[in-house]
Amino acid sequence: MHVHAEFLVSSPNVAKCPPSELPEYAFIGRSNVGKSSLINMLAGHQGLAKTSGTPGKTQLINHFMMKHGSHEWLLADLPGYGYAKVSKKDRANFDRMIREYLLKRENLVAAFVLVDSRHAPQKNDLEFMEWLGRKEVPFVIVFTKVDKLSSSERITNLRNYNKEMLKAWEVMPHYLHTSSDSGYGREELLNYIDEINAGL
Ligand code: GDP
Repeated sequence: MHVHAEFLVSSPNVAKCPPSELPEYAFIGRSNVGKSSLINMLAGHQGLAKTSGTPGKTQLINHFMMKHGSHEWLLADLPGYGYAKVSKKDRANFDRMIREYLLKRENLVAAFVLVDSRHAPQKNDLEFMEWLGRKEVPFVIVFTKVDKLSSSERITNLRNYNKEMLKAWEVMPHYLHTSSDSGYGREELLNYIDEINAGL
């Protein structure tokens, strides 16, 4: 189904985010995970979300208004984490900004944590999800770029990820697979959000 997506505003921190009663879903992941491509794929609008040219520089929260059928929600595009070349101080500020957003944004319903489906589980992703769990921030894992894997690789990688997650979690958190190249997973992700919104 068609999505109408509109850029609203960029904010440096949660206090400056636009007040809203609409349900909000945050998208976050390591830089280069495919976040901008996924947002553009969901919106059906190339160039809506832009990757920052300078890694670690643009640390803004970008809000988009999304309309899918009768459902209206906000998408918060959070800055990518895991840049190697950022100073300790910058990283600490950056972490605080994101964590404050996740803890204080009142209309936040869930976070989508993007993970590259090709890669073995990464320490900072696992630690970030454990932190979300401790803070009771609901989240979904999105395995991106699934077009780059054969179906057997996809199964193997998922099994490995499951195994790693189950060291810290009683059950595997909800997850989806997506490809921004083929559009795979688009309807599932949008429907997932619609179903939550319908129950709010
Ligand atoms: P971001 O830094 O997380 O916003 O990542 P981008 O969306 O800019 O994507 C990083 C790189 O991965 C770009 O070269 C994209 O073309 C590529 N990419 C992103 N999503 C996909 C996908 O689903 N499939 C494939 N094959 N490449 C992708």
